[in-house]
Amino acid sequence: MNPSRRPVVAGNWKMNKTNPEAVALARELVAALAAPPACEVILCPPFTALTEVSLLVGGTPIRLGAQNLHAEEKGAFTGEISGPMLRSAGCTHVLVGHSERRRLFGETDAMVAAKTRAALAVELGPIVCVGETLAEREAGETMAVVERQLREALFALAPDAVPRLAVAYEPVWAIGTGRNATPAQAQEVHAAARALLAARFGEAGRGVRILYGGSCTADNAAALLAEEDVDGALVGGASLEAAGFARIVAAAGAGAPR
Ligand code: PEP
Repeated sequence: MNPSRRPVVAGNWKMNKTNPEAVALARELVAALAAPPACEVILCPPFTALTEVSLLVGGTPIRLGAQNLHAEEKGAFTGEISGPMLRSAGCTHVLVGHSERRRLFGETDAMVAAKTRAALAVELGPIVCVGETLAEREAGETMAVVERQLREALFALAPDAVPRLAVAYEPVWAIGTGRNATPAQAQEVHAAARALLAARFGEAGRGVRILYGGSCTADNAAALLAEEDVDGALVGGASLEAAGFARIVAAAGAGAPR
């Protein structure tokens, strides 16, 4: 197993938590994860709470991520947030191409590629999300879709950028539905995605961490994370409650180091 694949658990708070609520949750998480976790932990609050959460997690092993960024550094893009702004708010990571961004806000593969480049340009670690819809899975198109998304977002990157990347496999039918992929379904896609990344980028590609996302909870995390090619979890709903999220972190750390 590749030692560069330290497990990672990221919590995507989506459009939840006012600033006082975000502060309360971050405080609970800092307390719950007081013993340095054996895996990397990244919290992704809404933009409005980044600075306050940053102040609370500063000096702890918990890292801060944003849920999105614009591909340009600055300019006349009303309502948008750039990579340099995220860095100045304390972020080290950013989600790119979440299926809700693709589906509800029209993000294309080309936009995901541009945002990935923009994140890397300011030394944010992009977590690039890919995954098929239920119709695509039922039509037997899962790997074709994931391959297209990976190819278009990542294959033009310079190989030296690859160690800073992570990928999240998030089947769209599993996000927020309470219906997670089975460990075998996740492993099948993760292994195929890893093979693609290795074919394009060699050992660096093989070492890219691939997180599973989609109704991951404290109850199913251990089984998903036990799979050889599942390097962590991107957690939505279950990241909004500290005790449950801490159990997912513990499950991810149980298999470390890889
Ligand atoms: C997500 O939003 O990335 C996600 C995985 O959501 P949930 O865990 O709620 O399915």
